[in-house]
Amino acid sequence: MKVGITTTVPVEILFAAGLSPLDLNNLFITSPSPASHLDLAERAGFPHSTCAWIKGIYSVTMKERIQTVVAVVGGDCSNTVALAEVLEKRGIEVIPFQYPYDRDPARLQGEMETLITRFSTSWKEIEKARIRLDRIRAKLSELDRLTYEENKVTGYENHLFLVSSSDFGGDSDKFESRLDSFLAMAKGRSPMREQVRLGYLGVPPIFSDIYDRMEQLGARVVFNEVQRQFSMPFETTDLVERYLLYTYPYGTDARVADITKEASVRGLDGLIHYTQTFCHRQISDIIFREEIDLPMLTLEGDRPGEVDARTFFRIETFVEMLQSGRGSALC
Ligand code: SF4
Repeated sequence: MKVGITTTVPVEILFAAGLSPLDLNNLFITSPSPASHLDLAERAGFPHSTCAWIKGIYSVTMKERIQTVVAVVGGDCSNTVALAEVLEKRGIEVIPFQYPYDRDPARLQGEMETLITRFSTSWKEIEKARIRLDRIRAKLSELDRLTYEENKVTGYENHLFLVSSSDFGGDSDKFESRLDSFLAMAKGRSPMREQVRLGYLGVPPIFSDIYDRMEQLGARVVFNEVQRQFSMPFETTDLVERYLLYTYPYGTDARVADITKEASVRGLDGLIHYTQTFCHRQISDIIFREEIDLPMLTLEGDRPGEVDARTFFRIETFVEMLQSGRGSALC
C-alpha cells in the first residue's frame, strides 16, 4: 500500500509496516508536467497566493488516488494544516504527525508511537527497517563525500539522490541498486574543477535547471543543506535521537550551526539561499544573513520551470563577484 507523506517523516516506521512511502513533493516535481498540477489545484479553489508545493501536493494526491497521507502539521509548513483538512473532505485518510518545536524527546516518541499504532507495527520491526535503511544512508553519505571531497558528483546528482531519501522512492531495494550503480560510475570519473564552490540552502528548488545553470558559469553546489538533512547523516542508531538531530523542523539556530560547520568542511565560497514565493520560511533569510559569515544570494522561485532570465542574471553576477574575490560586498 502506498502512503503519501507531505515531507520527511520517520520512514523506518512505514517500511517496517510493509508500506511504500511516497513523498508527494517528489511525485509532484518529477511528474511529466508539474505546472499542470498547479492549474488543477487553482481550479479546485486554491488561491494563487498559495505556495506551489502545497498546490502540487494536493493535485498529485488526487490524481494518483492516494488513500492515506501522513501530514506533517508541526515543524514543516503551516499551510499543511489547511491542506490536510481539504484532503480529509475529499475522503482521504489523513494521519497528522508533528515535530515538537521544543525538541522534547518524549513528545517526539509519542508522535512516533501514534504512527506505530496506526500502521500496526512494532519497535522490533522498526529496528530491522532501521538497520536496512542505515546501510543505504551510509552510501548516501559516501555520495555526499564524493561530491565535496573527491569532486566527482555534480550538484544536481547530489540533490537528486539526497532529496529522494525522504521516501527512498517507495522501494528501498530499487533505490539502493540505482545508488550502487551511480556510485560505481561516479568513482571512475575524473575530478571536476570548478572555480567556485557553492552551498545551497532552503527548500528544494522549483527550478528544473538551476544546478546546470550554475555549473555553466563555473560554479558547483557541493552542499545541499536540506536535502542532506533528509538523508539523516547522523551517527546515532537511536531513532528518536535521530529525528531530534534533524535540523529542519526545529527553528533556525540548529540550521545555522550545521551550515556554518559544513561551509568550513567543504570550503564554500558562497551560499545560494533559495526561497519559495508565499513561503513563511523566507523570513529565515534575515537570520541567515545576520549569523552566517559568507556571501549569500537569495533567490525566489514561484512556479515550476526553468530559471528565468532575471534570476540567471543575478546568479551570473554573484558567481562573477565570487570569482573576482569581491563576494563579501554582496548581495
Ligand atoms: S515551500 Fe514553504 S510554504 Fe511551501 S510547502 Fe514548503 S514550507 Fe510550506
